[in-house]
Amino acid sequence: MSETTILRGRLLRFAGDPFEIGAEAALDYDEDGALAMRGGLIVDVGPAGRVLADHKGARVTHAGERLIAPGFVDCHVHYPQTGIIASYGTQLLEWLNTYTFPEEQRFGDRAYAEAAARAYFDEQLRNGVTSACSFCTIHPESVDAYFEEAARRGVRAIGGKVMMDRNAPERLRDTAQSAYDDSKALIAKWHDVGRALYAVTPRFAPTSTEAQLEAAGALWAEHPGCVMQTHLSENGSEIVWVGELFPDCADYFGVYEKYGLIGARAIFGHAIHLTPREVERLAETGASVAHCPTSNQFLGSGECDVKGLHERGVNVGLASDVGGGSSFSMFHTMKAAYEVAQRRGASLSPVHLWWLATQGAARALGLGDRIGNLAVGLEADAVVLDLGSTPILRHRMARAGGIAEALFAQIVLADDRAVAVTLSGGKVVYDGDESMAFGPGET
Ligand SMILES: [Zn+2]
Repeated sequence: MSETTILRGRLLRFAGDPFEIGAEAALDYDEDGALAMRGGLIVDVGPAGRVLADHKGARVTHAGERLIAPGFVDCHVHYPQTGIIASYGTQLLEWLNTYTFPEEQRFGDRAYAEAAARAYFDEQLRNGVTSACSFCTIHPESVDAYFEEAARRGVRAIGGKVMMDRNAPERLRDTAQSAYDDSKALIAKWHDVGRALYAVTPRFAPTSTEAQLEAAGALWAEHPGCVMQTHLSENGSEIVWVGELFPDCADYFGVYEKYGLIGARAIFGHAIHLTPREVERLAETGASVAHCPTSNQFLGSGECDVKGLHERGVNVGLASDVGGGSSFSMFHTMKAAYEVAQRRGASLSPVHLWWLATQGAARALGLGDRIGNLAVGLEADAVVLDLGSTPILRHRMARAGGIAEALFAQIVLADDRAVAVTLSGGKVVYDGDESMAFGPGET
């Protein structure tokens, strides 16, 4: 049996969903808390006095004044777009043609994909993101590079081969049959292997023929444990285009309904410009929305109604959508979600925002019982945050009246400099703060 290790410090976790029970009841905070881990899982969590007494002889690392919190979960990202983050201008469809497609064509080269995966995971872990659900490219090599790098680092990763057989450059098109065959082989190779989970990944309705959407639906029906990820109603021109390509469907969501690409474990990126029918059907089918606020602002796509979706029973998680999204940081992403909500006149509290970036995103992926919180039985994915990572944060934190106020200041002002340590499966996968001396500690 492996040794129990304990991390002691300020401790943040969730007692429930703030959208259901309110921010105050949902927040569980210990000024002096402890997180006990063994075999990659959380075996105990709570006030330090009690946890330490129950695990005598365990190795203890002291986080001091730092905050121990659930690792962030990014439920919609494109790792192959790491290299084109921060490319200037335009809206969705032009952005795809100008930046995304030329870059994605290079991922048939295994070495190129591997280098991109390394850069991507470096950035993810530096930002305290312990799990993400990523689109790869049409090339199986891009999927192998992604999952191999995730396994090498020991992090939980969800992802899949993009299926795309029309309205894209020739070199970025597969076929209905090859997409099905390649995806099926990748599922056999990666799904539920270690901490990898496969996502059936039609890019979005306009880039798949009806035959390919049918193949994607068949594949997912054969492998219902997989996630299904795609995009929905991001941009006005895109929605008009979908209407022209699928005149027999009631609306954009209706296309995915027609081909069996709906249900629990289906996650739709953006979902901004929805009809009442689409919202109703998202809720009824148990599907989830990945809210990508930095991307929506960057591409001028619009403002997702997070609160409204929640009130109507739709699961929502927070996501970076890099490279349309402009940051790997979940602080930046939470801040953008706050600003988007403000513009809609429906404010989100710091607890709601933090939930969306952790347990909310995990639930959106159907993984709420495995990641996204600090609770017994969950995988030991955590971040240790320095709450005074910059001069202005130190100045501001001296005046913070409580944990919620402190969290909000972090959301607005923090970035990767706040991430002292990232732990995945109980192991240090990023150490930005050598003063914390992870490793053999006092008992
Ligand atoms: Zn996307």
